[in-house]
Amino acid sequence: MAAVPSLELRPLGNTGLKLSSVGFGASPLGRVFGPVSEEEAIFSVGEAFRLGINFFDTSPYYGGTLSEKMLGKGLKALGVPRDQYIVSTKCGRYKEGFDFSAERVTRSIDESLERLQLDYVDILHCHDIEFGSLDQIVNETIPALLEIKKAGKTRFIGITGLPLGIFNYVLDRVPPDTVDVILSYCHYSINDTTLEDMLPYLKSKGVGVITASPLAMGLLTESGPPDWHPAPPELKAACKTAADYCKEKGKDVSKLSLQFSLSNKDISTVLVGMNSVSQVQMNVSAAKELEAVGIDGKTLSEVEDILKPVKNLTWPSGIQQV
Ligand code: NAD
Repeated sequence: MAAVPSLELRPLGNTGLKLSSVGFGASPLGRVFGPVSEEEAIFSVGEAFRLGINFFDTSPYYGGTLSEKMLGKGLKALGVPRDQYIVSTKCGRYKEGFDFSAERVTRSIDESLERLQLDYVDILHCHDIEFGSLDQIVNETIPALLEIKKAGKTRFIGITGLPLGIFNYVLDRVPPDTVDVILSYCHYSINDTTLEDMLPYLKSKGVGVITASPLAMGLLTESGPPDWHPAPPELKAACKTAADYCKEKGKDVSKLSLQFSLSNKDISTVLVGMNSVSQVQMNVSAAKELEAVGIDGKTLSEVEDILKPVKNLTWPSGIQQV
């Protein structure tokens, strides 16, 4: 299958990788946002690649390993050389709980590669490190990931999580060029832009920036968030008001939200969770429309006004350490 080279590619820190501005978030393939058939999952991955998405993100945690298996099948069905797409998975977070020990993460990558049907991943992230000891991440997990990298099972190392302070904590304590990438979620969307203040620091360290959940994990969609969404009620209510307002005006709140996140070019890629061919098509069209004609500034400022009372409101995550 040949890709249609249509999406903007952006450099990822010092890695030399060039990621499509829209990345394919595969957590929905683990059925965490509702049912998805295997066929739809495979077609979604195929359509994403065909339309120019070259970056796919998963984790053993999503759907208790289901997302990795589905993504593996979708990538295999592409039938293209391995260097045509970029894959990240994670370690340390599982259906059974958290384990950032060297022994567990070393075993984890082999399990992930088997499920993904790959010889290596491009990025291996420590998943949601605020739930572990950050000192263990620095002193045990990252050294183990460096060994995994030496063995050729990952090309680059990343860390992910919700509280932004975890990134400085780790990056200030590891040698330069040890952690190549951070993945932040729910901190660069219309309702929460707190990641912005960290971008100059990350740039100064040569660390690539991936942002995830531009639709705030479903808050900024017409159908609303899943039951497990951790946002406080006032944030859920304000996002619902914004989504309803857009619908009334004949506007698509999800398109606007994705375009907002894509507008900041210091962010290498925006991971959107997708579980259908039509969502892939809508999200790629949103990115192309942004490149061609820009964002709908009037609707954006109206939505920003609605969300002003809850701007940058977040929720607790992990063990309080930073
Ligand atoms: P998201 O904000 O991307 O929202 C996903 C939801 O929006 C899903 O229900 C999806 O079906 C729906 N959706 C997608 N496109 C749509 C459209 N055009 N119109 C209407 N609805 C649409 O949230 P997410 O999936 O949590 O985040 C994206 C990805 O980022 C994840 O799949 C995962 O790969 C990654 N992620 C990583 C972490 C982490 O490492 N800690 C955390 C969150 C997300």
